[in-house]
Amino acid sequence: MRVLITGAAGFLGSHLADRFLRDGHAVVGLDNFVTGHADNIAHLIGRKGFEFIRHNISTYTFVAGPLDGVLHFASPASPVDYLEHPIPTLKVGALGTHNALGLAKAKGARFFLASTSEVYGDPLVHPQTERYWGNVNPIGPRGVYDEAKRFAEAMTMAYHRYHGMDTRIVRIFNTYGPRMRPRDGRVVSNFIVQALCGEPLTVYGDGSQTRSFCFVEDEIEGIFRLFMGGDSEPTNVGNPDEYTVRQLAEVVIEVTGSRSAIEYRPLPEDDPKVRRPDITRARTMLGWEPRVPLRDGVVRTVEYFRALVGTDRMRPRAA
Ligand code: NAD
Ligand code: UDP
Repeated sequence: MRVLITGAAGFLGSHLADRFLRDGHAVVGLDNFVTGHADNIAHLIGRKGFEFIRHNISTYTFVAGPLDGVLHFASPASPVDYLEHPIPTLKVGALGTHNALGLAKAKGARFFLASTSEVYGDPLVHPQTERYWGNVNPIGPRGVYDEAKRFAEAMTMAYHRYHGMDTRIVRIFNTYGPRMRPRDGRVVSNFIVQALCGEPLTVYGDGSQTRSFCFVEDEIEGIFRLFMGGDSEPTNVGNPDEYTVRQLAEVVIEVTGSRSAIEYRPLPEDDPKVRRPDITRARTMLGWEPRVPLRDGVVRTVEYFRALVGTDRMRPRAA
């Protein structure tokens, strides 16, 4: 197969490119580097089967040659990033998805959308099954991301129903691991970088809010199986082990051996209070489930960030 991955220089996109290449498929990676980094794909440049296009998917997109799959992963994904780029986030979810769907249609390719647990908003149903419609504030600061992804899902289903296209939608729950950008603002990267730099760990609110963290290797395997073998209905892919943010801070302090303190900061607006996937669908349809426990995944992520200590990439982001 030859597949296009948008957002290929990002955290998940680069691991997904590795996964396809590992099985002998060809990958065209596309990215405009708004939140990604060239380091994530440096090992792929010049490798047989990998091509790279620097391009904004929210504008007209041409890709030469046949494609069997279009996997649309381009989008800022960290709350801090999408608050910094609200309009590009809305555009890549809406116009970018439309362009990626149009390209897949023209090529007769399967389309795969990277959606998110954020479509459930601040959920009133716990754990979240795919049948839950969500509790999203469209005009709050997170609305730019949540509504763009909800629109992207609606657009994908419309292409499936109206054009008879072969499509997939994955709802990804908080995923972490090597190649996250230091200082991207997400909780796992923030805590690990803060612990390694001897800075206080910034817990927002009282830290009692929960998330369910999936190690990247598990997430990518679920996504790959869904692409190969799933159906067109949205599918949760994540790790159902649920932790409070405070518990996560304790795990990071323990694993890094850091002497950093915990510092409490205000809770961002509309921050979901709980989040945990019901993965019954992925389990039964794909025979998939996550294997890496949080502590083991944190150990492997700490190794990655430790190697970046002292480099420019660890510098705090500009205020
Ligand atoms: P990331 O920021 O590391 O990667 C996103 C990539 O998309 C970056 O390389 C960025 O430069 C690129 N991009 C953004 N807009 C673009 C545009 N207009 N044209 C071309 N490239 C563009 O984030 P990630 O964690 O790898 O997320 C990848 C996808 O998975 C996103 O769609 C995100 O919404 C989704 N997702 C991720 C998580 C998670 O926990 N990591 C959870 C839910 C959903
Ligand atoms: N969070 C935190 N400290 C940080 C970054 C995030 O306490 O330095 C909290 C945030 O308020 C949220 C959770 O950690 O409750 C997960 O945040 P993240 O930005 O990783 O993603 P989200 O799941 O909110 O999209």
